[in-house]
Amino acid sequence: MAMPGAPKEAENMEARAYGALMGLAIGDALGMPSQTLSRQDIAERYGRIDGFRASFDGHPVSHGLSAGQVTDDTEQTLLLAKRLIGQPNGFDDVAWAQDLLAWEADVRAKGLADLLGPSSRAAIDALLAGTSPEETGRNGTTNGAAMRIAPVGIMTLPDADHVAARVARTCRVTHNTGEAIAGASAVAMMISCGIAGKDFGVAMSDALVACRAGQKLGCAVGETDMAGRIERALELAGQGDEEALVAAIGTSVASRESVPMAFGLLRLVSGDLWKALILAANIGDDTDTIGAIAGAMAGALGGEIPQAAEARILEANSIEIRPIARALLSLRSPVATGDAEWA
Ligand SMILES: [Mg+2]
Repeated sequence: MAMPGAPKEAENMEARAYGALMGLAIGDALGMPSQTLSRQDIAERYGRIDGFRASFDGHPVSHGLSAGQVTDDTEQTLLLAKRLIGQPNGFDDVAWAQDLLAWEADVRAKGLADLLGPSSRAAIDALLAGTSPEETGRNGTTNGAAMRIAPVGIMTLPDADHVAARVARTCRVTHNTGEAIAGASAVAMMISCGIAGKDFGVAMSDALVACRAGQKLGCAVGETDMAGRIERALELAGQGDEEALVAAIGTSVASRESVPMAFGLLRLVSGDLWKALILAANIGDDTDTIGAIAGAMAGALGGEIPQAAEARILEANSIEIRPIARALLSLRSPVATGDAEWA
């Protein structure tokens, strides 16, 4: 017999899973034209970014992309989602590395310059040179792990150790470090909690628990207290001072900067998805990834997605979000996956 209210709950979960992926795409696309630029350069080039913009000719990374187009953050998130959906009972490091390589070849073939990030690049080169997948990710501390982790949060119940273990497994080949896994675990837990219907405050404290669990799972390389960095960002954001937040936390491709910054921005605007993503687009340096991470978390927590932004993303990109959100959710059952094989 169906539980009364069950269809409504399923509907809410689907809306939040979709929201996570759509929020991610919106944050990515808003930050696309400003990525790698300083705050000053962004202001000089674009004024204040307050919506989707095309990149300028000669942009070092996003040259050739038009307003609303997404980048590696969204594409690699959907790539990881497809790998997890296609093979839900385990994770094949070598196949995943091949997915990333094939993705990069496709980007090159289109004449675009937004290729694999530093940790993924180094790890895949090492793998191709014969290094074992247990070793290839041992120096990967950058934010590629957190930027593409949303599918793990959608498909996994909000238990801190469970989330952290799955994050560590999917990150192993490229980002097998305490810093990267802790950051990605915090992000995945926010998303998992959002889909479970938890509110922002509860999700935030659960995310810190997952962050500490994740910290222990990778090689002891990079930042040793990611949860402390996130707490610091939340504290500064709570004081409402964006400049102080940027000065203390930073906005680079390092997980220890961009992941806490995404949390800080959400706190600064009390979880308002669009406001957070506009701040991210103007914040400097890794704008698109900070926006993607903040957007995934805000969307999963029920943050309102402006209809015009959603329409623009679907129009400007040939990506499928709804079926992927549904397929990931269908894996979110304690009995559907054999986690022994994920170990
Ligand atoms: Mg990007």
